Parts: sequence; structure tokens; C-alpha cells
Amino acid sequence: MATMEPIDGDQKKRVCYFFDSDIGGFHYGPGHPMKPTRVRMTHSLVMNYGLYKKMEIYRAKPATKREMTQFHSDDYIEFLYKVTPNNMNNFQKEQAKYTVGDDCPIFDGLFDYCAISAGGSMEGAARLSRDKCDIAINWAGGLHHAKKGEASGFCYVNDIVLGILELLRYHQRVLYIDIDVHHGDGVEEAFYTTDRVLTVSFHKYGEFFPGTGDLRDMGSGKGKRYACNFPLREGITDENYKRIFEPVITQVMESYRPGAIVLQCGTDSLSGDKLGCLNLSMRGHANCIRFVKSFNLPLLLLGGGGYTMRNVSRAWAFETGLAAGYELGSDLPVNEYYDYFGPDFKLDVRSSNMEDRNSVEYLERIKNVVMEHLREIGGPPGIQMSDPPRMPHDEEDTNEKEDLDNPDERRPQRLWDKRVQRDDEMSDSEDEGEGGRKNRVSHQLDVDMMTTQPDVNGGTKGTEVRRSGSGGLDEPGVDASIIEGGGVVAVSVGQERAVHVKSASPRAQTGSGVVAASSIASTMTPAGGPPPANSDNNTASETKPVAVAGANSKTDGDGDALMD
Ligand SMILES: [Zn+2]
Repeated sequence: MATMEPIDGDQKKRVCYFFDSDIGGFHYGPGHPMKPTRVRMTHSLVMNYGLYKKMEIYRAKPATKREMTQFHSDDYIEFLYKVTPNNMNNFQKEQAKYTVGDDCPIFDGLFDYCAISAGGSMEGAARLSRDKCDIAINWAGGLHHAKKGEASGFCYVNDIVLGILELLRYHQRVLYIDIDVHHGDGVEEAFYTTDRVLTVSFHKYGEFFPGTGDLRDMGSGKGKRYACNFPLREGITDENYKRIFEPVITQVMESYRPGAIVLQCGTDSLSGDKLGCLNLSMRGHANCIRFVKSFNLPLLLLGGGGYTMRNVSRAWAFETGLAAGYELGSDLPVNEYYDYFGPDFKLDVRSSNMEDRNSVEYLERIKNVVMEHLREIGGPPGIQMSDPPRMPHDEEDTNEKEDLDNPDERRPQRLWDKRVQRDDEMSDSEDEGEGGRKNRVSHQLDVDMMTTQPDVNGGTKGTEVRRSGSGGLDEPGVDASIIEGGGVVAVSVGQERAVHVKSASPRAQTGSGVVAASSIASTMTPAGGPPPANSDNNTASETKPVAVAGANSKTDGDGDALMD
């Protein structure tokens, strides 16, 4: 029987966990190693271990085109929005320009997939910034290779950069840590010239994708010393990883004193990953999460790579437990993917006997160089929060004048050097209707509702509020059950019983969709809507509560997705 134990001496954290069951229904294509179903498998373990009792679960409002263009170029996002497998032949030139095709294929629902991934990370960041939680988790995020106008390494929209931008509205300095086996190039590049984000990436380097992340690459201009790379050889063990990770991160904390941390938890650094070549066990990987958590700063935990799905889900479920202060027991609970965890049906991912090509001497030498760079920072960069520029579009979500802005004049990398919110602006956006993601109403998924919420039928087109799912164990949508206190509690893995309130106003996709990066500071509002039961009170007057029963056409049902 699956169990979990509270971790001794662990400081209790408020954890917000983001999950959208639609994520499991996207497919990169036959034979492609990236399988979004892994996020759903993770969720299945999380729910069946009972972790839903230890944290708040939300379905985030998907990111809009407009939100995505806070980092990405308008033309690139417009392309992602328009292109489909059916019309892709009309976009030959664009496919080359934006490097979609092979590694980053065009698949059904591509834009929606990106929107879910980015929505969770932005929402997580927004809730952290408003002190609604201590740790936010979005396993559908962490897509660190995406560039401003280019897809790369299975990543199209960089949810991490968007999440960090949200954090920068409230925090002078944000630390980004990347433990994926691949270099976090997209995030590093986005913040390469600023001291407001320090990026640290530990990755395999040398004849390995994406080819960047040299020890000598440490940022430029104002950002010099604020990018940090730890190149690794194949086969690093738990012990050796810990030997470098803990001192480097400790030095970063001392030198930089960040206000918030984003940790990309790519699991392709685990032993036995299909694309990776390191040798971490689940516990070695999770030690990074445990260690970073111990600094007690607002923490955004994101997914990333990870291509042996049964191990990805094991590690992320275990790490979800750590975040919530619980250690999951080693027997896996019964869950809809149970067969894939054979033959042992245990939680642990173990390391192998592969050779560690990282000698202690090598690691010490690199560590010393990295630590020296970090010490040269000599304390956190000066804080000048007294005079934030008031942005022209501060109060409006859609602003026609934006169309007049010259998109070429947007230089996000410069602008975010200045952007920070005044203390007196840091009011609770849920009361003010500003300050967070605008028109974002995400919904806490109430587990009690999941089990008892009566079905509400009858929907109309243009649904604003979606209340889905239904009541009984034998209903579709109830994907798993657990035994609790002697009774059977239905756990809807699909989360379709949650209420999902969409934006009351039309999605911000008018005109060219040009949004100056400078307006980020105000274009988002409260996430975190009320619990489902109160949702009607919160909807704007033009929002009509309408119910749509449970259907989720994208939920995965085909075994193909599980092949790893
Ligand atoms: Zn990776």
C-alpha cells in the first residue's frame, strides 16, 4: 500500500500545483521522444499517493498570444497560432525561419500545448509573487530551449522566461537553476545581458545538444558574471553531483541573494534516460530540489526534459512530495498507468554501474572556476527600486495604441533591467483587479468537489465558465480511485470536475498583438480565482456561467503515447 510520511524537521510550505489534463492529449508524432503524457502519468502518481491533500491544485488559464509576446516575437507567435498539420505546406518559408520541422514538429493543438505549458508557469510565478504560496509546481513547463523567434529542442514557447518576467515585476533579482542534462540555452540567452536574473546550468557539455554552455560563457555587458555554466561529462553520480551542486548554489545565494528561485527539474539527467547520459538516481536528482527548497525563498519548480516516461513520472511525483514536505513510500499506488511501472512497481529510479567520466579532480577544477566567478560578483547588484518607469499601457489589457508601436523598438532584454514594482504597488491583486496576470482566473481544483460535485449540464457556445465532470466512480472522467480511511475516494486524474473560468473579456488577440515588453508590469492580473464553489461571484458581469460536461477530447487514451 502506497504511503507517504511527513519529513522530519521540514518547514511547512504552501504548495500550489498546476495541472491541466489536456496536456496528456498532445502528441509530437510517432517515434518522437517527447511525450506530454509523462505529465499526466506524474499527476496520476501524485493523486494516487494522496498528495492532493497536502497542496492546492490548480488548472491555470492558458497563456494568450499577447502574454507570449512579452518575450517572443509577434510574427513567431502568430505563426505558432496559425500553423497546423493541414496547412503547414503553405508555410515552408516560415518553417525554415522558425526552425520547426524535425525536432520541433507541427502537431495538432501545438499552440494550445504551448499555452498550457506557459500558462502554468506564469500563473505559478504570479501566485508566488502575491504570496499565495511558497512553492509553485508546473511539470508541463520548463521548456528551456525555446528562443525569442525560434523553436528548438522540442520547445516552442519559453514558459520559463515568461515566468521569470512575471517574478521580475516583484523581485529585483531572480535566480534560475537548471538541472536538465541539456544546457538551458534559451533562458540564459534571454537574460544574458542583465544582472536581474542569474542563470546557473549544470549540463553535459561536448558533442551534445545544444552545444552551448561553455564554462567561459558568463554573461555580457551588465549581465557579465550573471550567467554560470557547469559543463559535465557523462555518467555523473549522485555523490559527485551533490559535491558540486551544493557549494555552487550556496555561493550563488551568498553572492547574489535572489528574491525568488526558478528551478528547472529536467529529468533527462536521470540514469537510464533515453536521450540523457548522466547517472543520477531519483534521490540524487531530488536532492537538488530539497537543497534549493532549504533556502526558504519563493520557489517555482518546473519540468523540462525527461524521455523515459516511467522514470520522469517517478521523479517528479517524489519531488512534488518533497515540496509538500512528504516523502513518498517506495511501493507505487495503483494508478491508471500501473502496468508501465513493472516489473518492480517501485518508486525509486536507481543509478546504474556506468562509468563516471567526471573525475573528482575535473569537478573540483571546474567548481573552483565557477565559484571564483561567483565570488567576483561581490554581493548583490544595487537595488534601485525608487523610480520605476510608469508604463503607458499600465491600466489596459487591450490597447489599440499598441498597434502603433514599432515592434522593432521593443528590446525586452534592455527593458527588464528597469522593470520592478514599487512597494506601494504590491497590493493584493485579487482585491484590486490588477497586479497579476490580467483576466487570468485559474481554478483551484477542490478534491471534495471532485468526488461529489453533481453534473451540471447544458452548455452554450462561447462558454465562459466551464464546470465539467460528474459524480460517480463509474462515470467517465473518473480515472482512478484510491482507498482512504476504509472508503473509496474517487480521484479524477483528468481533473475535469474543476471549474474553469475563462477570461470575461475577449482574449487579447486584437490587432497585431503587439505588446511592449515594458507593459508586462501591468498586463496581468489575478490568477487564483476562488474555489469552484464561489466562482460565480467572481466572474465579471459579462461572464455567463455555463456548464459543459466533462468532455475532454484530448485526454490520452491511446497506448501509443505510452511507448517509451
Ligand atoms: Zn534536456
